[in-house]
Amino acid sequence: MINEAKNLLNQYFGYTDFRSGQAEIIDNILHQRNTLGILPTGGGKSICFQIPALLFQGTTIVISPLISLMKDQVDALTAADIPATYINSSLTQKELQDCLYDIRHGVYKLVYVAPERFDSDYFIDVLNSIQIPLIAFDEAHCISQWGHDFRPSYRSIVSSLKKLNQQPMIVALTATATQNVADEIRNLLHIGQQDTFKNGFARENLSFNVIKGANKRDYILSYLKEHSKESGIIYTSSRKETDGLYNYLSLQGFSVAKYHAGLSEFERKQAQEQFVYDEKQIMIATNAFGMGIDKSNVRFVLHYNLPKNLEAYYQEAGRAGRDGDESECILLFSKQDIQLQKFLIEQSTFDPEIREQDYNKLNQMIMYCHTEECLQSYIIQYFDPNETEMKCKKCSSCKDTREKVEITREAQMIFSCCKRMGERFGTTLIAQVLKGSNQKRIRELGFDQLSTYGLLRSQSEKEIVDTINYLLTEDYMQLTDGKYPVVLLTEKSIPVLKGETTVWMKKSKTPVKEARAVE
Ligand code: ADP
Repeated sequence: MINEAKNLLNQYFGYTDFRSGQAEIIDNILHQRNTLGILPTGGGKSICFQIPALLFQGTTIVISPLISLMKDQVDALTAADIPATYINSSLTQKELQDCLYDIRHGVYKLVYVAPERFDSDYFIDVLNSIQIPLIAFDEAHCISQWGHDFRPSYRSIVSSLKKLNQQPMIVALTATATQNVADEIRNLLHIGQQDTFKNGFARENLSFNVIKGANKRDYILSYLKEHSKESGIIYTSSRKETDGLYNYLSLQGFSVAKYHAGLSEFERKQAQEQFVYDEKQIMIATNAFGMGIDKSNVRFVLHYNLPKNLEAYYQEAGRAGRDGDESECILLFSKQDIQLQKFLIEQSTFDPEIREQDYNKLNQMIMYCHTEECLQSYIIQYFDPNETEMKCKKCSSCKDTREKVEITREAQMIFSCCKRMGERFGTTLIAQVLKGSNQKRIRELGFDQLSTYGLLRSQSEKEIVDTINYLLTEDYMQLTDGKYPVVLLTEKSIPVLKGETTVWMKKSKTPVKEARAVE
C-alpha cells in the first residue's frame, strides 16, 4: 500500500520520494493504527494525512487551529485537484449551509475545521451521516496543557468524539513535543507508544546564533544591508515593538510588512500575502504570525526579543529554510527582555503550578542564551534528553573560537565604578565613566573626579558595555525594571571585589593597559 501512497505523492504533489518520517507515519495509518507524528517544522506533516485521506473511502476531517492555515491548505489541495473544503467562522451562513450539504453528499476527501466546530451538535450530526476514516489533529500540541499553545477547545474535542457513531482513526501531528506533551497527546487520543514516530528535531540547514549586548537596531540595520536580497522574518515581543521597528526600517528604505493581532483581518491577510509572494522582503511580526505559513525561501529568522520558551523559539526559528537551503536563526539577547517575559507570566495565569512551569521554561530559554554548548544540540536535548550531544559546527557557540580569558581585574573596576556612581545609572553611563569620556553630563555629575574614571580607557566603549552585559547575564550585577534600567551589584560581586574568586569570559584578548589599581 505504501507504493500506492508513493504513486499518489508523485501524481498529486509532484514529489518523487517521501521525506524521512513521512513514509513511516503514512504506513502506520494505513495499517489502521492511531498515530502520533513528530516532525520538525517544514518536515512535511500535511502530506502524512493528505495521502491516507486519498487512499481511504470517505471524508477525512482535519482539525486545525488557524483560519489562515486552513484556507492556504485547501487552496493548495484544490489546485492539485483534490476535493477539499474548510469550515470556520469566516463563512457566511449561506456558504456554511452549502458546504455542509456538500459534505453530507460526500463531495470532499478532506474537510478542515476549527476545533470549536465540534461543540455543535448539528455538525456532529453531519459527521454521523457520512463515512469518516480518519481524523487528523494538526498542531496537536495545542491539545496539551503542557504545550506552549494550549487551547481548551482542542481538548474538549476528546469528549465530543464520543458522540460519533463510528470510530475513525486518529493521527496527531506536531513539531514541538516535549516528553510531557507527547505523553498527554497519546493519553488523550489513545495512541500507543509504539505508534509514535519522531524524526529527529535537528534541522541541519539552520545555523543558530545568540547575539548578546548588541545595539539591536544597529545590528539589524547592518544585517539587512548584508542580506539585501534575502527574505526573512523579524519577531518582536509586542505590537508596539513591531510597529516601532516597522516604522524605523520603512524609513530606512527596506521592503517590510508587519503582522500582529492589533491589525484588522484585512491588513493581516494583505501583509501575509505580500510576504509569502515576495512582494515584501521582510516580515516584522509578533508571535501571532506564522503558524502554518508555508514559505519555503525564508533565509533568516531574527528574534528581536527573547521568546518565552524554547518550544516557541524553535517553532518560530524553524520557519527559516523550509526548502532545505542554508538559513540563519538569530536571537538578539538583552537582559531587559527577561523582565517582560516574567511580567507576561505573572499576567497570564493565577495557577501557581502553571506559573512555576512557565518560569522554569523561561529559565531554560535564558540558559540557551548563555550556554557555551552547541546551540542546536542544546535545543535537541531540551526536547529529548536521550539525544546524544553533538556539534553542529555552525552555531555561534561552535564557531566561537575565542578562549576564555580572565577578566577579574576588569570586573572589579566595573563593580567599583558602579558602586562609586551610587548604583543609580545605566550601562552606558558606567561604560562612559570607565572609558574616561569627556561628556558634559559626566563632568556635571562630578564623575570625572572618581578614582575609577578612565580606568578602562584602553578599551572601546562597546567593549566595556559588552563586559558589563556579560556580568549582568552572569548575575554579578542586575538591572532594575522600567524604561531606564539602573545597574545594581549583586551578592555574587562581593567575593570578586574581595579578590576571593576569579571571573572568566570568552573574548578576544585585549590587555587592560594603563589600569590603575582600584582603591
Ligand atoms: P509542516 O511539517 O511544517 O506542516 P508542510 O506540510 O507545510 O510542513 O510541508 C513543508 C513543505 O515541504 C511544503 O512546501 C511541502 O509541499 C513540502 N514537502 C512535503 N513533503 C515533501 C516531499 N516528500 N518532498 C518534497 N517536498 C515535500
